[in-house]
Amino acid sequence: MIPYKHEPLTDFTNEENRRAYEQGFEVVKEYLGQEVPLIIGGERIYTDEKMENFNPSNREEIIGYVSKATQEHAEKAMQVAQETFKTWRKVKPEVRADVLFRAAAIARRRKFELSALLSKEAGKPWPEADADVAEGIDFLEYYGRQMVAMKDGVPIAQRPGEDNRFNYIPLGVGVVISPWNFAFAIMAGTAVAAAVTGNTVLLKPASNTSVIAYKFVELMEQAGLPAGVINFVPGSSRDIGDYLVDHPKTRFVSFTGSRNVGVRIFERAAKVQEGQIWLKRVIAEMGGKDTIVVDNDADLELAAQSIVKSAFGFSGQKCSACSRAVIVGDVYDQVLDRVTELTKELTVGDPEDYNNFMGPVIDKASYDKILEYVEIGKKEGRLVLGGTGDDSKGYFVNPTIFADVDPEARIMQEEIFGPVVAFTKAKDFDEAIDIANNTDYGLTGAVISNNRFHLEKAREDFHVGNLYFNRGCTAAVVGYQPFGGFNMSGTDSKAGGPDYLALHMQAKTVSEMH
Ligand code: GLU
Repeated sequence: MIPYKHEPLTDFTNEENRRAYEQGFEVVKEYLGQEVPLIIGGERIYTDEKMENFNPSNREEIIGYVSKATQEHAEKAMQVAQETFKTWRKVKPEVRADVLFRAAAIARRRKFELSALLSKEAGKPWPEADADVAEGIDFLEYYGRQMVAMKDGVPIAQRPGEDNRFNYIPLGVGVVISPWNFAFAIMAGTAVAAAVTGNTVLLKPASNTSVIAYKFVELMEQAGLPAGVINFVPGSSRDIGDYLVDHPKTRFVSFTGSRNVGVRIFERAAKVQEGQIWLKRVIAEMGGKDTIVVDNDADLELAAQSIVKSAFGFSGQKCSACSRAVIVGDVYDQVLDRVTELTKELTVGDPEDYNNFMGPVIDKASYDKILEYVEIGKKEGRLVLGGTGDDSKGYFVNPTIFADVDPEARIMQEEIFGPVVAFTKAKDFDEAIDIANNTDYGLTGAVISNNRFHLEKAREDFHVGNLYFNRGCTAAVVGYQPFGGFNMSGTDSKAGGPDYLALHMQAKTVSEMH
């Protein structure tokens, strides 16, 4: 098997690649507005009540009419998953992995179509959509290899006359609740991590992006995944979210999304239900309030570029996005001015047009929430740029910069999940790290500095799961920068890391006397 290597990103300066992306849109246009079923045990179920998934750039354009699972459907899916677990858990790990490798190959062949669908359904600009699909492919390739590497267990001590074995076995039925912001990568990654380890899955994707999730489940079927291993149960969280989490037969929950929902899941999963014979495991990846620290001796152009990209890429709708810039001492004005200048050049508009750097935010609730934070920000700091939006057709928010914000201010503390960055000044590097750590979260952070001792201080004291030096704080790559955070950012379950699969398994020791 060739060693794992991440999927290259597409070079869109190449005209041929741009044409391929346009063709991707053509493919997607053929199925826009289609009815999307649930898939339970391979069976397609179309419900009467449907969710209307629209394009966030243009509400008029319906991406799909998605069937909505009820509790009865969830129950049926649970039974199918329990039944399928009996056989799937015995399928050889390398055979399970082969399904992932084939799925990766199919996704690679359909890359431009899948990316174009993300541009339509999630409002992702081309390079962001391309990176999302590439990351999904990476998860398939990486977890497949990880499973093969783990298949013989871990060596343990032996004594004469005794054979000791230590193996990881699957857990059971997992509920996977995936987000809309990496609607392909994280959805696919969390679902296949659960499945390749021998579990069966109930996949409830974010409602906003259920069509891409459906395309993925179809793709897994094409790759040879047996019916019933990943059951597709889109629907509203209100209808089935608690039901799935509370179910006594749910063995684990893998969740990526907001802090509020994550905490709720964690609390509910802790309650042992009648008929439940285990303690549920929860893997939760939640929010972030991520900081880029700029030292006073830093490469200031690199600092400004890193802030702009990390704050405004995909309109800041990443839990890794930079929402706080902490600048040490007298370079504050220079960095702020350069970030403002670069941000003025950014274009906002429908991501169907390659030239738009930023697309819309995901929906009205996000749009309203971001603009509410802008109002809060106006009271807490100095609005330097942006602060405006346009929801006449879709949900566009302009990149927004606040300066001179107190580290305790709400826009410095609360996750906004939009294109808003707040600047604050620190008197020295130590204070900058204190400010950076002063949040409930601990997901990503970056330090732009040329001072080796400061970098070493940050290595020890900057308390985040993903710390970056002399680059931005987004865009972790599977296998290279395992991703997950501390404190209220979640359970620090490192997606795309060497110990991720083990979280979906339990270790069994068998000792035989000869
Ligand atoms: N893994 C992504 C990154 O490094 C962020 C994931 C998320 O926003 O959920 O930028």
